[in-house]
Amino acid sequence: MDSVVGSCNACGATGTALMKLSLGKDFFGRTYDRLSPSTDQSPKWYCDGCSMQKNLQRDFRDITAEIDKLEAGQTSQLSTPDEFQRAALRLREVVALLDAAQHRSPLLASSDVTRVLERLNTVTVPA
Ligand SMILES: [Zn+2]
Repeated sequence: MDSVVGSCNACGATGTALMKLSLGKDFFGRTYDRLSPSTDQSPKWYCDGCSMQKNLQRDFRDITAEIDKLEAGQTSQLSTPDEFQRAALRLREVVALLDAAQHRSPLLASSDVTRVLERLNTVTVPA
């Protein structure tokens, strides 16, 4: 493992502490295979700021995928009112965190998250 020499897989930062991300579970508690420690075939290394945003990006992707399903009329994790609420709260939190971040990472733009949040607001809240 050439962990310390290298650059952040997201922003390319060098000469800073890098960490391998093992994300384990996704936002909905499902196993997130690709980056789980034992099955990850292509580990990624991120600097501090990017690793934080990588986690936000993961939740953002999970939630976006479920909104896609919901809009397509398919069964979605968001079909549950509790999960729907939780996802909406998380997206708002992600926007706030991104807007407050000192480190601008190429991973995730708060405008993208805002757009998805708007989509979420137009989806009929499941009864
Ligand atoms: Zn970085």
